[in-house]
Amino acid sequence: MLTNDDIVLLRKDFPILEEKIYGKPLIYFDNGATTQKPLQVLARIEYAYKHLNANIHRGVHYLSQKATEAHEDARSTVASFLGAAHREEIIFTRGTTEAINLVAFSFGEAFCNQGDEIVVSVMEHHSNIVPWQMLCERKGLTLRVIPMNEKGELDMQAYKSLLNSRTRLVSVTHVSNVLGTVNPVQEIIRLAHEQNIHVLIDGAQAVPHIKVDVKELDADFYVFSGHKIYGPTGIGVLYGKRELLDAIPPCQGGGEMIDKVTFEKTTYNILPFKFEAGTPDYIGSTALAEALRYVQAIGIERIAEYEHVLTRYATTRLLEIDGMHIIGTTENKSAVVSFLVGEIHPYDIGMLLDKMGIAVRTGHHCAQPLIDSLGITGTVRASFSFYNTTDEIDSFIAALKKVVLMLS
Ligand code: PLP
Repeated sequence: MLTNDDIVLLRKDFPILEEKIYGKPLIYFDNGATTQKPLQVLARIEYAYKHLNANIHRGVHYLSQKATEAHEDARSTVASFLGAAHREEIIFTRGTTEAINLVAFSFGEAFCNQGDEIVVSVMEHHSNIVPWQMLCERKGLTLRVIPMNEKGELDMQAYKSLLNSRTRLVSVTHVSNVLGTVNPVQEIIRLAHEQNIHVLIDGAQAVPHIKVDVKELDADFYVFSGHKIYGPTGIGVLYGKRELLDAIPPCQGGGEMIDKVTFEKTTYNILPFKFEAGTPDYIGSTALAEALRYVQAIGIERIAEYEHVLTRYATTRLLEIDGMHIIGTTENKSAVVSFLVGEIHPYDIGMLLDKMGIAVRTGHHCAQPLIDSLGITGTVRASFSFYNTTDEIDSFIAALKKVVLMLS
């Protein structure tokens, strides 16, 4: 496991962790929203703009070829990080949201007809709800929702009963951004495949924290965002099985996605270019690859183990506080703890913690249907990274105790 000495060294890679907020040392517990960036990623961005900047795929000149190589190497890095069988199964997008929208449009065009059904779960982020609702409206489909139990675990019996001959696709999150629940996605995929139903997994909250192997999972689509795994904003990934990506149309036109254009007809490029219209974010892709190498160098298993200890420690310490209500109590949790204290509004807790230099998230966390189903208006959410420490958790608990005293 990562030792305290390891963490001291790793923290030096993240200059922002030295910031003072209102004169207090920053304690950053909003990693579920976005992670901080290590020097290696920042250096890669600077290097790319200083030495490798030219538009890719089109130029015969040296710089363009070098930039193209870097972008395509980044694709190979992502493919090996996810355990994809083929590098052309990796499509660069702006993030998880864009990747899901791409599938909702393109898969919807090719495979969905009036009366068909899409299955999501009650704990989805809006990004994995709204694109499917848009598809439902566009093509006359119905959205079905997997419920969960009081611990925040998906009801697998109910899931099984939702699958039928009209189900075209199941789209569920690997890890809930509110509850921290790690869903049994392998089982979800297996059950869907028994009925020839395709599955998309939203990996936004999973890839930074647990080992993901898309081949082992047998996911048809798997998506994530670079900025949540120490990479830059504006870059993300859609993994799709080659035969499926080949079978669905592009959703944007222009740029490298074409094969031949005439005014009468346009034919499309091969994978992965078919889905990367316009100038791709070739600086972002190489910086994302750097972030993935950074995570691999530490070891995702070691990260998972350490973050598990942090999350358990935070949970135990939170329970010292009178009126503490942890939302999401399954055993199999990732690095997220959501909570409420008595009748105190989460926003008030977040505001006061902020004044003490502690960044947590409050509100519905872009999962309004989940929050509604719990009969609450929101939660306070602390989400951890390997660069967080038990000392920070102690400071957070001390601050929270003060806040609760002030607000009670
Ligand atoms: N899905 C989940 C589970 C998330 O937590 C998030 C972001 O918080 C998203 C999707 C959307 O990610 P992005 O805004 O990077 O597209």
